[in-house]
Amino acid sequence: MQVKEFNYWLTTVAMPTSPVTQLPEAVDVAVIGAGFTGLSAARTLAKAGASVAVLEGQTIGWGASSRNGGMVLTGLKLGVNQLISMYGRERTQRMYAASLASIDCVEQIVREEGIDCSFARCGHLEVACKQKHFEDYARQAEVVAREFRHELRVVPRQELRGEIGSDIYYGGMVDEVSAGLNPAQYVAGLGQAAMRAGACVFEGTRVNTIEAQSRQGSSGWKITTSRGTLWAKHVFVGTSGYTTAATPALQKKIIPIGSYIITTEVLPDSLARELSPRNRMIYDSKNYIYYYRLTPDRRMLFGGRAAFFPETGDSIRRSAEILRKGMIDVYPQLRDLKIDYVWGGTLDFAFDIMPHAGDMNGIYYALGYAGHGVAMATWQGQKMAELISGGKPDNPFVGIPFPGAPLGLYNGRPWFLPFAGAWYKFLDWVS
Ligand SMILES: Cc1cc2nc3c(=O)[nH]c(=O)nc-3n(C[C@H](O)[C@H](O)[C@H](O)COP(=O)(O)OP(=O)(O)OC[C@H]3O[C@@H](n4cnc5c(N)ncnc54)[C@H](O)[C@@H]3O)c2cc1C
Repeated sequence: MQVKEFNYWLTTVAMPTSPVTQLPEAVDVAVIGAGFTGLSAARTLAKAGASVAVLEGQTIGWGASSRNGGMVLTGLKLGVNQLISMYGRERTQRMYAASLASIDCVEQIVREEGIDCSFARCGHLEVACKQKHFEDYARQAEVVAREFRHELRVVPRQELRGEIGSDIYYGGMVDEVSAGLNPAQYVAGLGQAAMRAGACVFEGTRVNTIEAQSRQGSSGWKITTSRGTLWAKHVFVGTSGYTTAATPALQKKIIPIGSYIITTEVLPDSLARELSPRNRMIYDSKNYIYYYRLTPDRRMLFGGRAAFFPETGDSIRRSAEILRKGMIDVYPQLRDLKIDYVWGGTLDFAFDIMPHAGDMNGIYYALGYAGHGVAMATWQGQKMAELISGGKPDNPFVGIPFPGAPLGLYNGRPWFLPFAGAWYKFLDWVS
């Protein structure tokens, strides 16, 4: 198979670059990471009048934000009943409302900043890999309608052809509120918007250490980077699955997990319509999940956890074949189509599979999106910026318990991932 090991989305956009200038001596807020979280925060902070330095070890959008499936999804990774049992009805309602608001937040930024990224409210479709998964959809739809006044539509197997050109599933569930976009164009636009608002982005500036240090009588932080030091009154960390030992307490709470994507060559119009008649963002009900969609230029984009480890040249190469096989199981119509691109990226999972935000020992953070970060990261960036600016935004993810590894058996190196991968495969077999 002749496949380019390259992120297809990056062929559709010129990423903005920031001028190479010296680091300022002091700023109001240093933001670490130039993805959705960091850039959304930087945009809001700069608009509120703060001086902001975004410190990015690589380039704007280099992390998961340019590499993802572009699915702007409602809901959280965990099911609603589980959320209610963990956090109670009232907080879960606020969390669900936040997850809906996060999609509006992306839409509003796209509109306000004129970001050309094919944002469309095309809805998402979850498809059931087993009869019992399908039976659970009706129960979920009922709870979501009752608790959150949000409508999910259950699609029985015999009507599924109106949603997807595949016969392997037992039924589906549609949420019309979800959206799709081109993530690289979106993060590029967000970067431009943050810089237009006055934030300075420093690419190639890796943060190595953060130490508490006062300056002119004001408490704050001395930040040592690969390009020198600066002082900031506040630090906000948006480093997601790429979190390093610069923030050791956060690194110990986040498991980096690989996710991989292939795209086909451009499909004939009629075939694209057959595969996804309503152009939905689609994912299945397995733990070892597949997610897929058409790109705006009509390629099939097909992703999954082909390997559990964060991306390496080897895991990316192996993923191309694994994902192609998965794609053909779903869509035998694509058997003879060429795969043009394969790439990988790193997801950030907390041990409770929840997003977390707040401040840890005085350092602000938001992360743990578990593959649901396009909307939530944008929203968290905005809400945390409002908090840092002295506001009191409602953020139901602040203050929830943030568990570490059982028995503290994790120092940021995910030695257990092969076992976790095998465990998930086992769960998919038995559940
Ligand atoms: C393959 C894949 C598919 C996905 N699909 C979807 C999807 O369809 N829908 C969805 O909602 N979510 C999806 N996600 C998840 C989503 O992309 C992420 O949750 C989101 O992009 C996180 O954004 P972020 O800004 O927090 O982190 P990132 O975009 O990962 O940015 C973190 C940045 O921090 C920088 N950094 C880290 N440490 C330092 C340091 N010490 N100093 C300086 N810089 C540092 C990194 O270089 C990186 O650029 C997917 C993720 C992947 C990998």
